[in-house]
Amino acid sequence: MPLSPNGLPPVQFAPPAIGDEEIREVTEALRSGWLTSGPKARQFEDEFAEMVGAPAALCLNSCTAGLHLALLSMGIGPGDEVITTPLTFAATVNVIEHVGATAVLVDVEPDTLNIDPCAIERNVSSRTRAIIPVHYAGHPAEMDSIQIIAESHNLSIIEDAAHSLPASFRGSMVGSSTNLTAFSFYATKNMTTAEGGMLTGERELLEHARELSLHGLSRNAWNRYGVGGKWRYDVGVPGYKYNMSDLQAALGLCQLRRLASFQSRRRKIVRKYTEAFSSHPGLQCPVVRPHVESAWHLYVLRIHPERIGVDRDTFIQELDARGICASVHFVPIHTHSYYRDKYHHKPDDFPIAWENYLRMVSLPLSAALTDSDVDRVIEAVLDVASKIRGMAA
Ligand SMILES: *Cc1c(COP(=O)(O)O)cnc(C)c1O
Repeated sequence: MPLSPNGLPPVQFAPPAIGDEEIREVTEALRSGWLTSGPKARQFEDEFAEMVGAPAALCLNSCTAGLHLALLSMGIGPGDEVITTPLTFAATVNVIEHVGATAVLVDVEPDTLNIDPCAIERNVSSRTRAIIPVHYAGHPAEMDSIQIIAESHNLSIIEDAAHSLPASFRGSMVGSSTNLTAFSFYATKNMTTAEGGMLTGERELLEHARELSLHGLSRNAWNRYGVGGKWRYDVGVPGYKYNMSDLQAALGLCQLRRLASFQSRRRKIVRKYTEAFSSHPGLQCPVVRPHVESAWHLYVLRIHPERIGVDRDTFIQELDARGICASVHFVPIHTHSYYRDKYHHKPDDFPIAWENYLRMVSLPLSAALTDSDVDRVIEAVLDVASKIRGMAA
């Protein structure tokens, strides 16, 4: 690993928080004789559902699989339109293409960068079937307004909750509603199973999704091979291979127990960043609306390039030169070549998403960052922001 100018290893963007406990749990699962989806996966579903207050839960090999199964379970396909945000990871929109539906992007709100309910309302057509809000950076989208729009036009809501574990909107946890909601346990997310996801929602819909998640078999492998199981099975639908293994579930159970402590560490880091940056005229800190609790998956700082005399890309390069790994969330969907060309989009079709994209820098954030890592990030950001401002003055 190359060292930064001060001789220290770089501060990673989102290092996973894995300790001896996780190593012990996964080792135990390896020794148990059951490797694929089995008792640990079921236990993980139960404990997860209990934690977020979900009606039911289904663990999968990714959040992407959860979003895909959600669309399939709602029967969404060719001829249908699905409304979502351009400020998301490609997976949210790719799954709409996978089922043959049309992705209708709408702009975001300037403070939270979450999908704008008014923009949703303006883009509902006779073909619209669903809305996929993404709780960007861990801050819940305006679910009351989105719910009202969905009800008045008879639309489904599928929540992309990849960033929002644990988060709440007006006291209700994301995942506790009957909306199909997909969480991610990818390596950089608030808790991880290396790769993995969880779909929550109504039990009946999830049972259908469960069948689709394992080849369309009418029974899952645990029932087939377990005590009292039968060799006979039926394929009622050509399903997918989306199940989560017990090894991953063992890791997930352990991370779930540590989640509350991860979150208090994240909040502490966020407070330190905001204290350090909020009075700087060239920097704009993320905000939280009063009626929500954010999961603080990301700390998205926005810079004022005209005030600090440097553009976003140079800002990130300067952080990199100081041993700080920053990132950008996200390259807007409508500027990726596939979506740009298919839907004939121009960058300023969604001016708020586009203008904010040009100013955003995600700073390192993880429960695994040390106090000294956080101090180094703060020092580097202030150094880059004020040095260049000093030059311009
Ligand atoms: C990470 C992420 C996903 C995909 O999660 P996987 O578990 O890797 O499939 C989907 N949506 C958003 C917004 C994400 O950040």
